Amino acid sequence: MKMKLRLNRRNAILMGGVLLGAYLLLMIIVTNAGQNRLKESQLNELNLNVKIYSESIGYFFETASREIGEVAQHKATYTFFANLASGMSMQYGLGSSLLQLRRNLIQHTSPDHRQHENAKFNRMLLVGFNSNIIADSHPKLRFDINSIPFQKMQNVDHKIDILVKDNHIVIRALQNVYLNGEVVGILVGEIKNDTIINLLTTQEYQLSNSRLSLSTSQGSLPIWDTFDSKASHHLNTLYFNQSIANTPFSLNAWFAPISESQIITSTWFTIALSFLAVPVIFGLYYSLKINNTNLVLTTKIEETHNQQTVLTRQNHRLKTEIDRRKMFEKELAYQASHDILTGLSNRKSGDEKLRHALLQAKRDDVNVLVMFIDLDDFKQINDTLGHLAGDKLLIQTAKRLRQSVRKTDVVARIGGDEFLLVIPNLHSEKEAQTLASKLLAIFEQPFQLNESQFFISTSIGMSIYPQDGETTEELMAHADIAMYRVKKEGRNGFSFYEASMNTDVQRNLDIDAQLRQAINQNKLEVYYQPIINLENNQITGAEALMRWKDDKLGFVPPDEFIPIAERNGLIHKLGHMALDTACHQAKKWQEIQPLTIAVNFSAAQFRQQDALIESILTVLNNSGLDPCLLDIEITESLLFSNNIETVQILEEIKRIGAHFSIDDFGTGYSALSYLQKFPFSKLKIDRSFLQDMEANPSSQELVNAIIAMAKALGLKVVAEGVETQWDQDYLKTQNCEYAQGYYYSKALSTEDFEALLLQHNKDVI
Ligand code: C2E
Ligand code: CA
Ligand code: CA
Repeated sequence: MKMKLRLNRRNAILMGGVLLGAYLLLMIIVTNAGQNRLKESQLNELNLNVKIYSESIGYFFETASREIGEVAQHKATYTFFANLASGMSMQYGLGSSLLQLRRNLIQHTSPDHRQHENAKFNRMLLVGFNSNIIADSHPKLRFDINSIPFQKMQNVDHKIDILVKDNHIVIRALQNVYLNGEVVGILVGEIKNDTIINLLTTQEYQLSNSRLSLSTSQGSLPIWDTFDSKASHHLNTLYFNQSIANTPFSLNAWFAPISESQIITSTWFTIALSFLAVPVIFGLYYSLKINNTNLVLTTKIEETHNQQTVLTRQNHRLKTEIDRRKMFEKELAYQASHDILTGLSNRKSGDEKLRHALLQAKRDDVNVLVMFIDLDDFKQINDTLGHLAGDKLLIQTAKRLRQSVRKTDVVARIGGDEFLLVIPNLHSEKEAQTLASKLLAIFEQPFQLNESQFFISTSIGMSIYPQDGETTEELMAHADIAMYRVKKEGRNGFSFYEASMNTDVQRNLDIDAQLRQAINQNKLEVYYQPIINLENNQITGAEALMRWKDDKLGFVPPDEFIPIAERNGLIHKLGHMALDTACHQAKKWQEIQPLTIAVNFSAAQFRQQDALIESILTVLNNSGLDPCLLDIEITESLLFSNNIETVQILEEIKRIGAHFSIDDFGTGYSALSYLQKFPFSKLKIDRSFLQDMEANPSSQELVNAIIAMAKALGLKVVAEGVETQWDQDYLKTQNCEYAQGYYYSKALSTEDFEALLLQHNKDVI
């Protein structure tokens, strides 16, 4: 029994021991598993943190590269290089564009740059390819130009590099700067290390007992170090290395492992478990803790996920903003080089393209054609039909020009109604001639404005590289001079530059200066050319024509000085003088013989309407001439200003009693509708029709047609430029009423005309 009892007790003890051992073993296994999972979850958590840190830095460098990229494409940078390439001097535009450029660099390195982010750069500078510093945000600081890897930059667009300066790591973003696709410089941005440190220490919480540093090929940049230096657990720290995408860097992180005390506690727990029931509590405690840790981890992951969502959203917003700005910059760049109205290149860009073509031509030893195209009387369209119509006309002109040349040819709008055409590889002068004729021909098609169609012609001036000049300025100036020659010679044509034209320009300047003096000193005279009634060959009137003999310039024909007076405003004084002299004279001559007096009026005079009416009234009043003896000659260019005001002023003058003649008929727009609208009495056929009338039947046809048309409109006809008996006879057969020309007499001085009148009267009597 005793034995049994002892056995039983021993067994019980044994059983208890075995059970306890099994329990213990079970507990150890469970506890161990718990410990392992705890370590594992801590490891995962730390790993995740390091990844987030590295992503933050990666994003920082991405935006830094983007920012410096934006500076490289900035208008200020582009303008500076474009100015430099165009050879502009420092005093002129280059200096100011350099200042703009530098201001932009300073702006990107100032601490208050960008409200939402800290500045990314300490310093930003622009280095040229011949190792010079073009602009520097901090010019007083030393900079080692040899540190720029020019060689390497040839193969990439941008890169990040590291160097050690005064024992400090300097991280730099390098970015190539391009002009027309070619690298012209390198932008260097020195990264502000503090911003990287701030980024991690302020955005992320700092783990105690940890160390983080940015590892580069030149050493490492410490970010934080909160390791307790006395603690011994340095040896078994947890270490992470995470490379940063798209940069040559990686992050190094060290963390203290899970607190040793926890592990120790769990060891004690195993021992204590043998004696106490604590293990269960400990087990519970552990499982609870594991659960809690998992919960913390889940929350953390969720938090990270949320952070990532926010980051993605911000990224998206940033991207939209960058896209918007890029679009804006593109638009700005487009506007800087294009004419907004027509979409053609503007003057600056036209200049640049011509310069480029000249460089190429110098290399290839070929010719370049420079063509100036100016619309005739465009100002009138603008003044009278309005700017909208003018704009439409310019757009249609641009389209026609663009369509008439090759894609490689340059077409630019360089002024109001002035266009530039550059043909980069001209084979012969003949080719230029053919092209000019072709361009004149495209203007023979009517333009469509609103509901009506009308015609406009152009004047084309041409210069050729290298014979007419070597530089853009020379060639443009010479093409301009050639164009003016066309204008002077009646428009609607083309002309090549000739060296002699230069003297013309000087002469125009001289005329301008001398004319003012001549008016003040009363040096201008009025001559009179008789107008003959073809029915009885009597002098029926006189046309007053201005004459000027200058001491310095000699005889200057009115065709030369009138256009200049129209441009400089002297025409109002001149016109008044001519009218005043002619009317007073005509009044006197009435005693010898009744005659009408024709006075030429420029379209320009009608721009000061009140002054004009005033002038006519005063002159008629002072001279006492019967208003119906006054014939006001105007050209079609005035009629073209088909607006109500012009009709009104003509009607008003008509009411005073004066008559109107349409002068130089056939050289301008010759639109019938104008003739009907305005109150004309006479039509003067331009002398160019009579020039070859005898030899040319088609000129005869034209003259016949004009006379027939004038009659249909109830107008009397004056044929100008009658030089031969044949002319006179022919005009008589066509029932032309009046004639004027050298056949009868040139324009004569007052005395000579008076003598002619007296003689004529005698002859007739
Ligand atoms: P216009 O009004 O057509 O004047 C006629 C021009 O033809 C005059 O030239 C006259 O001398 C010239 N002429 C007359 N008969 C013949 C001929 O048989 N053969 C040739 N080949 N030519 C002939 P001029 O005097 O040199 O005047 C030229 C232009 O200057 C005038 O052309 C007119 O537009 C303008 N002009 C002259 N005086 C004045 C003026 O006082 N005011 C304004 N606004 N313009 C004027
Ligand atoms: Ca005239
Ligand atoms: Ca005339």
